[in-house]
Amino acid sequence: MKISKQERQIVFEKYNGKCAYCGCELKKGWHVDHIEPVVRDLKIVNGKVTSLPTCEKPQNHTLGNFNPSCASCNILKSSESIEQLRRKIAQFVNSLNQYSTQYKFAKKYGLINETEIEVKFYFETL
Ligand SMILES: [Zn+2]
Repeated sequence: MKISKQERQIVFEKYNGKCAYCGCELKKGWHVDHIEPVVRDLKIVNGKVTSLPTCEKPQNHTLGNFNPSCASCNILKSSESIEQLRRKIAQFVNSLNQYSTQYKFAKKYGLINETEIEVKFYFETL
């Protein structure tokens, strides 16, 4: 989906060059996130998934719906809403307790201190 250089600069400055989600300094290759997702149309060619230039919700491709994001937060968020992303991250501790032997041992030996804090995104702390 197209975005002009000028719009990209406006998005970059929205949180002073920081990721709206984790708050890290944005580096080369940062992403423009759609806060309300556009849900890109995909196709599979030779077993590889690629994005088409079309999407399910083109009405969400507006400057007011853009957030600056580091690549990893944007890839994690994928086609989800902010609340879905928050629930996904909150579930990580459960997954680690269920599936990660290293995590369980680190916890058993006191290296991990779990909290019940709510997932807060950088833009919500400003
Ligand atoms: Zn981030």
